[in-house]
Amino acid sequence: MKPVIALVGRPNVGKSTLFNRLTKSRDAIVADFAGLTRDRHYGDGRQGGREYIVIDTGGFEPEKPTGIVAEMAKQTQAAVAEADAVVFVVDARTGVSGQDHDIARYLRSAGKRVLLAVNKAEGMSESPALAEFHELGIGDPIPVSAAHGQGIRSLVEIALQDFPEDEEAAEPDEGAPIRLAVAGRPNVGKSTLINTWLGEERLVAFDQPGTTRDAIHVPFERNGQRFELIDTAGLRRKGKVFEAIEKFSVVKTLQAIADANVVVLLVDATQGVSEQDAHIAGYILESGRAVAIAVNKWDAVDSYQRQMFERSVEQRLPFLKFAPVLPISALKRQGLGPLWKAIGDAHASATRKLPTPVLTRLLREAVEHQAPKRAGMFRPKLRYAHQGGMNPPIVVVHGNALEHVTDAYKRYLEGRVRDHFKLVGTPLRIELRSSH
Ligand code: GDP
Ligand code: GDP
Repeated sequence: MKPVIALVGRPNVGKSTLFNRLTKSRDAIVADFAGLTRDRHYGDGRQGGREYIVIDTGGFEPEKPTGIVAEMAKQTQAAVAEADAVVFVVDARTGVSGQDHDIARYLRSAGKRVLLAVNKAEGMSESPALAEFHELGIGDPIPVSAAHGQGIRSLVEIALQDFPEDEEAAEPDEGAPIRLAVAGRPNVGKSTLINTWLGEERLVAFDQPGTTRDAIHVPFERNGQRFELIDTAGLRRKGKVFEAIEKFSVVKTLQAIADANVVVLLVDATQGVSEQDAHIAGYILESGRAVAIAVNKWDAVDSYQRQMFERSVEQRLPFLKFAPVLPISALKRQGLGPLWKAIGDAHASATRKLPTPVLTRLLREAVEHQAPKRAGMFRPKLRYAHQGGMNPPIVVVHGNALEHVTDAYKRYLEGRVRDHFKLVGTPLRIELRSSH
């Protein structure tokens, strides 16, 4: 599971600037689950081979003085509860404030690993002014400059030092279970679907004690295929059924998606596809996971609503065009067979072997049919291709002047590869590598 770093601190110390730095770019704010967590932002970061999730608690508007403290306390607590490491951000230019002391007192009692980042410290790393921050009782101040990108690398290193390095993304071995996650907004029917699945006759669930800290993984077998269900909902076994004991958790959803081979994106037919659904879908795509879209509560909508729903899928999720859309009813146990088939097909596509000779031949044919456009003096030359990874499949294309290949042409290549190998339910990445 990706470790989670929370940024806390009073307004204006530079949390958002640091957040942008840690998540590499503004575009990386992939999971701003609007509405659910209005004042917390979630982003993905990577340093070397290590990936992490960052939560920023900025964004609340100071209204009345009591309001600020109350709201800040609420945001801070929620983020700290979800975090593996907390970065307490203070401001080198203003020095220690009363609010810093309040936050420090809370953090000392929270029982989490806390780092003290003294921001805006550009040109001050040796300054005696930093020593003042020892009085917060959080440990050694770590000077950083979010705006100038100084000290960030070692901050992340220290934050992650207790977490194991990510394993090398190994080739998925044949007999390994398919790791499966069900992702979706609150109330779309995740718990109902999971209980329906685990109650299916053709499915053998293996008992596994749930732990309190870690998400549970429920192993089971269906028609000879082993699966491992990754919990997104804070499920706990209660007698024969699983019950969600926690509210919707953004962090659990992000971690489960990152950890899965295949994600079932569950949406609610009675609600239409919402902004939040699109955010979750966007995250699945960025993570490169295989995906099937299950439209739940199909039993509860009439034919007009069904039509409207189909249109809203096309409009809101155009970037998941490759994903199959399956109407189901978790409650009435309808449509589950086709959903299982879609999950299996998506996994098979995501892990398909794409032999180099076939890819290279496809590339030649694609170029013959439609050559990439000349850009000024340069004409991109595509020479050969090989597979660079699975789940998602990556096709690496070698050649010259490939930086002049347009996005439209990349999509064209993607389409040719997809058609040939009949890839469904998985993103496909085309990477261009020029040898000049
Ligand atoms: P937040 O309210 O804690 O999220 O703070 P912001 O990220 O919005 O930053 C508040 C102000 O501090 C902005 O004007 C930033 O440009 C500025 N700032 C952020 N990081 C640095 C830094 O490393 N050095 C300096 N000098 N200013 C910074
Ligand atoms: P979760 O928050 O995503 O885990 O959603 P739940 O599984 O708790 O379901 C939320 C509500 O939707 C409950 O009242 C369920 O009974 C209802 N529900 C779930 N699946 C279906 C379905 O297929 N059809 C109908 N009509 N209602 C459903």
